Amino acid sequence: MLPVVALVGRPNVGKSTLFNVLTRSRDALVADMPGVTRDRHYGACHLGERPFLVVDTGGLSGVEETMDVLTARQVRLAIDEAQVLVFVVDARDGLLPQDHAILAELRRSGKPIIAAINKTDGLDEQAALAEFAAFGMASTLPISAAHGRGTDELLRAVLPLL
Ligand code: GDP
Ligand code: MG
Repeated sequence: MLPVVALVGRPNVGKSTLFNVLTRSRDALVADMPGVTRDRHYGACHLGERPFLVVDTGGLSGVEETMDVLTARQVRLAIDEAQVLVFVVDARDGLLPQDHAILAELRRSGKPIIAAINKTDGLDEQAALAEFAAFGMASTLPISAAHGRGTDELLRAVLPLL
């Protein structure tokens, strides 16, 4: 079984866009509508010779459930399956209460977490990073999934943790 890297975060932060970049596929459904991805998606990824799986946990179906309940279930799945957790946040939205709730649960797992500050395109990267310094995370990287920026650096940060 290959090691698994999970992309975790609230809806619409860019998890599926990042998944597509990392796996160079169109497997994950990307849309403007929050929560549109219907299930987990696995994709193969590698850095150099080192293969691993990336999982996009966004958007389990469950029409009767609220987005908070769905997101909580995705977080648990990611924690169960992954060796490394990539916590994706939206630089344009800043830190929302749901981000803090997700991060608290990720931390309880004791697994390594890397924060990917997404949508930094067109923003002052240092200012964006400063806001998220409140996370107090060792590894916080600015990325733009839509523009494929920072994603190699993200993989290089993930690799030693696998
Ligand atoms: P998910 O719900 O977390 O899977 O988010 P998606 O990948 O579906 O992306 C949600 C929206 O954010 C879409 O409209 C994407 O085009 C947009 N988006 C994703 N990544 C970026 C980025 O790096 N920069 C900008 N400006 N928009 C992005
Ligand atoms: Mg998605």
